[in-house]
Amino acid sequence: MPIFTPGRRWQPAYSPFKEEPLSHKLMEDFEYMLKGPLFGCRMCGNCMLQETAFICPMECPKGLRNGPCGGSTPEHCYVDKTRPCIWYKIFERSFAMGREEKLLEVLPPLDWEKVGEETWHDVINCIKVNGTGKVMKSLVLNQGEDRWKTWDLIFRKVRQPDWWQGDDKYHAPAYTEPVSDLERGFKSGEFVVACEIAPPLSMSTKKLIENIKLVKPYVTAINFTDNASATPRMTSWACSKFAIENGAEPVMQIAARDRTRASLQGEILGATAMGVRNVLCVTGDSPVLAPQPRGRMDINDMDAIQMIWILRRMRDEGHYLDGREIKFPPKFFLGAAGSPFASEPKFQALREQKKVNAGAQFFQTNLVYDIERMEIWLNELAKRDILDKVYIMIGITPLKSFKMARFMTQVPGVVVPQTILDRMEAADKAGNAQEEGVQIALELARKIKSYENQGIHGLHIMPVGWEDIVPRIVTEADMLPKGFARPEPKGEMVPA
Ligand code: SF4
Repeated sequence: MPIFTPGRRWQPAYSPFKEEPLSHKLMEDFEYMLKGPLFGCRMCGNCMLQETAFICPMECPKGLRNGPCGGSTPEHCYVDKTRPCIWYKIFERSFAMGREEKLLEVLPPLDWEKVGEETWHDVINCIKVNGTGKVMKSLVLNQGEDRWKTWDLIFRKVRQPDWWQGDDKYHAPAYTEPVSDLERGFKSGEFVVACEIAPPLSMSTKKLIENIKLVKPYVTAINFTDNASATPRMTSWACSKFAIENGAEPVMQIAARDRTRASLQGEILGATAMGVRNVLCVTGDSPVLAPQPRGRMDINDMDAIQMIWILRRMRDEGHYLDGREIKFPPKFFLGAAGSPFASEPKFQALREQKKVNAGAQFFQTNLVYDIERMEIWLNELAKRDILDKVYIMIGITPLKSFKMARFMTQVPGVVVPQTILDRMEAADKAGNAQEEGVQIALELARKIKSYENQGIHGLHIMPVGWEDIVPRIVTEADMLPKGFARPEPKGEMVPA
């Protein structure tokens, strides 16, 4: 195990992807021999150790460079349970050192031109640019913050290349008129409801379109997941297109797991040209949750925060990641996933702030069954002063059985209180589980709405294939959208 990084190297170190002079090779060997035992260095060539409390984030199986995923726990990484969540450790140490605010800086994805290379040349160049004597003097004579400032002078340029220019500041959207009904609903002060429809498992769209027509009058927008659990289904953009054709407003989810930076930028142009106006970025479940054979588990090209940063700049600054101008930039309302129960609330709040700073305008959270813990998370968001910068929709899933309730306890980032498990168990025995699940969902929905003036702006129902329960929940929770027109009865598709 490395001396400073509380884990072990996840995968072998990288080699450069090109021919190099001998002097560079020798420097690489030296760096590897030094930083390997100290930090478990993977020779990513884009070193950011000084930002991450000297714990190497490349120990994360997803290769995340901006904080923990929604499955982070104090006990272990959810992808590989034999190792700690390295981001939990980074957060823990950063908070202990009082350096947690450093973690707010949005860091770039790997520049693969540099992967496998040593970073010494870049560092030495930065020292020269800032004056070798001045830098050395400051490092020797200064203490505390002043010394850190000098460190930053040296390393900022190394970790923030010109094509990225990440920072720790809030970037408000560069437009004012809402671009979607979802955004319009939030801005008008409505308590907005969205729901999710499971994308089809085949090319048949019959059920998908039936479900879109069924829920459309009751919700403002419909989410389509992007290969949830890393398991293939119809794509989110295709489902979004069918929603638009049937008069509904989609929220197109994009998982970083299945994207490269090139495909992300191309896809967003195509989707917005088709009429998609809400985009939700997620890092995506690891293939460890997928059926076998499993896809690549050792790295993502980008994480959700990097996707948000790239997309906001495409929209508001009108250029691609490589700097080329976009003549007609895409328009969209940009969302992210919120995780009230992953890791610790104060860690998560920092991660959510980073998403908001990067450009997230709305959050849809993971499933919430524990309102008290949700409130703790909300208070942490308030401390970070972001509640007036983002619209928050809380996620709920109606339970159908005790088995499902127990399964939910295994889902990364989901907490089901014992009282709910007991209720579902008793109802299961009495043959009444579905109705009890609906009653629990209604109680949660009403409690969530009671936080309307404390930072919660809506409800996101994830019915996991039980779409025909959505109209009943929205109606009985008294959350029908403004101007609601009850659809004509059509046999069994109409809710009770
Ligand atoms: S739990 Fe998530 S963030 Fe933590 S090490 Fe595993 S994949 Fe990375």
